[in-house]
Amino acid sequence: MISVDLKKCRRCGLCAKACPFAAIEIQEKVPVINQEACTNCGACVEACKFNALEKIEQQASIERTDGDIWIFGECDQHGLAPVVYELAAKANQLARQANVNTAVVILGNKIPIQQAQRLGVGKIIAVQHEKLARFDDRQAANVLCQLVEKYNPSILLGGATAIGRALLPRCAVKLHTGLTADCTELSIDPVTRILLQTRPAFGGNILATIVTENHRPQMATVRPGVVKAEKTTPQKEADICWETVPEELLDYSFQWIDFIPKPAETTNLRDAEVIVAAGYGCQGPEGVKLVAEFARAIGATLAASRPVVDAGWLQYHQQVGQTGTTIQPKLYIACGISGAIQHWVGMSNADKIIAINTDPDCQMMLNADIAIKGNIFDIIPQAMDCIKKNQPLAK
Ligand SMILES: Cc1cc2nc3c(=O)[nH]c(=O)nc-3n(C[C@H](O)[C@H](O)[C@H](O)COP(=O)(O)OP(=O)(O)OC[C@H]3O[C@@H](n4cnc5c(N)ncnc54)[C@H](O)[C@@H]3O)c2cc1C
Ligand code: SF4
Ligand code: SF4
Repeated sequence: MISVDLKKCRRCGLCAKACPFAAIEIQEKVPVINQEACTNCGACVEACKFNALEKIEQQASIERTDGDIWIFGECDQHGLAPVVYELAAKANQLARQANVNTAVVILGNKIPIQQAQRLGVGKIIAVQHEKLARFDDRQAANVLCQLVEKYNPSILLGGATAIGRALLPRCAVKLHTGLTADCTELSIDPVTRILLQTRPAFGGNILATIVTENHRPQMATVRPGVVKAEKTTPQKEADICWETVPEELLDYSFQWIDFIPKPAETTNLRDAEVIVAAGYGCQGPEGVKLVAEFARAIGATLAASRPVVDAGWLQYHQQVGQTGTTIQPKLYIACGISGAIQHWVGMSNADKIIAINTDPDCQMMLNADIAIKGNIFDIIPQAMDCIKKNQPLAK
């Protein structure tokens, strides 16, 4: 927090002008800090020429503990959202490494207890209230933070979905802790037992591992599709804790007008078992058409790298990668794709990868299970011919 030394303050007002968050109001010439709005960025301290402002580092709001690992049980119209099963699989794996328990927190007017029992977590923490029927990020943050303060989990994970991205950063600010968004990998440091949160950084050119050393809970959002979900029938039922929160925490911050569902996309890459992807090596719509025919011939779903989407040859919902969809097919066939890290993070969980490329040294060819060196305009027609004749592809 920022403290003002009124003995040193010359009432110049520079600090209010310097604050990027409009957190300083000059009242009767004196700067008054709105601690709710203040992010502790320190810009005002720099701006004050009279050393009248001081940044006081706050203690971690919650002492370091080996508390439970929590996941946020985001719901959609069918109950728990698919990403929650993925988060549960990761949380259970981390909990085994850290030797702690797991819990899912579900807020709503109906709590999908049966679905939650299939997550394999140790505890279900549920807040049921008619005012929680619709997701409101401020209201949900109030409730979730209240629960965190009560139970002190060591880790809190959410999906990197529209809901998770609205809720978890808000909670991190309220709880004065760190959050790593859009993680592609999470693990526990075997020595410190701190959560290692890995995500693409600097435009995706490196994978950065980030830690929240001193503040709790350690918070991260995880991209859907990064972790394999496990829908299990657990040996032991999870304990259910029904929680109540003060009514004032449940006030809506917006007025509900209507719900318009997003039109269904024609491609569901996340559930596809076999994917054939077209890269910039297709060189244009004709090449993409050839790859699409190949996909159709083998009953695969068609996907694309980003340059193919940027060029307008295929649609955004077909894009695989950091800024597209993360997939886990049984087989991924990359046609003319170099394997840049931003593409790789979206498809590296494929069980088997086949690459067709003219460049044997590109990352996709080096990392593929089967690398076919050649021009897609030669290889794909040959492959389709072999499929028709039920023959193996000639070496
Ligand atoms: C912030 C950020 C986010 C990004 N997000 C994504 C993302 O989500 N998804 C994504 O895909 N990219 C993403 N990118 C872009 C990424 O960095 C690469 O530029 C992109 O993945 C390259 O696509 P490509 O492999 O199709 O094209 P290129 O890198 O141009 O590779 C084309 C390949 O085709 C081969 N080739 C050429 N002609 C033929 C032929 N006739 N037959 C066979 N092979 C041939 C070449 O040898 C080459 O390996 C992102 C970049 C940034 C900075
Ligand atoms: S910049 Fe410093 S001296 Fe000026 S009003 Fe702010 S605190 Fe006071
Ligand atoms: S620390 Fe940053 S956010 Fe807080 S009052 Fe100063 S300038 Fe504004």
